[in-house]
Amino acid sequence: MPKNSLAKRARKRIPSFIAPYRIDRGKKFRLKDVDPSDTGPLESEQKQESRDVLQHGVAELSRLQEMLYAQDRWGLLLIFQAMDAAGKDGTIKHVLSGVNPQGCEVRSFKQPSTEELDHDFLWRACRAIPERGRIGIFNRSYYEEVLVVRTHPELLARQHMPSSLVTRDIWKERFDDINAYERYLTRNGIAIRKFFLHVSKKEQKRRFLERIDDPNKNWKFSMADARERDRWNDYMAAYEDMIRHTATPHAPWFVVPADNKWFTRLVVAAAVIDALDEMDLSFPKVDAAKRRELRSVRALLEKNGKAPKRTR
Ligand code: ATP
Ligand code: MG
Repeated sequence: MPKNSLAKRARKRIPSFIAPYRIDRGKKFRLKDVDPSDTGPLESEQKQESRDVLQHGVAELSRLQEMLYAQDRWGLLLIFQAMDAAGKDGTIKHVLSGVNPQGCEVRSFKQPSTEELDHDFLWRACRAIPERGRIGIFNRSYYEEVLVVRTHPELLARQHMPSSLVTRDIWKERFDDINAYERYLTRNGIAIRKFFLHVSKKEQKRRFLERIDDPNKNWKFSMADARERDRWNDYMAAYEDMIRHTATPHAPWFVVPADNKWFTRLVVAAAVIDALDEMDLSFPKVDAAKRRELRSVRALLEKNGKAPKRTR
């Protein structure tokens, strides 16, 4: 198939890749309705075709990001949450492989430092929000505050909160605060898309075994990952509750099937392209005076290779 028509076809298919996984209103969301091994409209034999489609997606993303940067009005925040080995790192690497590194920044959120623990829970994220014209990627995020912290209450005890404020409503309060913060960012021109890479317990086991057996992957495995696996059901309950409370039309969650990496990447790329498309981006147009100036510089450059003297 000629390249152009494949690119066009790929673009047309964007809604079919993202619509089934986009959650705008979480109230009725149930995690068990999303199958981690789903490959949407594609069969597993179409893996090669999916790679070609992804390649076009990556090129398209790069084109849109250039306009985002040039226009310098919108920012885009992409949040990735997942269990270990679900493929966060690989997805970020592949989907954003064509993007100019100057226009994007990846930030990983690990266990908070002593300084971070002495602040409100959104503090460290606020400082990493992308500026206008940029794509910011959060590899984990403030959502850990309603996931790992909820699963391990001892982590909450380390947060120096006044005890009268730590009540059974704390998770609901955090959801409210996150929603308010995301609405605030959106109203300021920072668009938000959130991705939960939904891997099955069985596929996680397969990937852990691969990390243990392959010496080149040993570094990726930690005992902590195995311990968290023991709490699988608690994590799934926390993820479900989080999505139910924080999926909104302006900051939707995408619950992305993650047992097939090639499909995960396709869905994420399509969702990012769709988010940039919504911004209706274009290169800034210059006014008549600027065009005149450019023409005169061009004439001078052609004449003697020198730029004109600065007038100021
Ligand atoms: P990798 O793919 O390299 O394993 P990772 O994101 O799992 O990446 P790790 O250093 O293995 O990084 O783990 C970071 C840990 O920090 C995770 O277990 C995560 O739950 C934890 N963490 C992140 N934010 C918080 C938080 N606010 N409070 C407590 N723990 C947190
Ligand atoms: Mg880890």
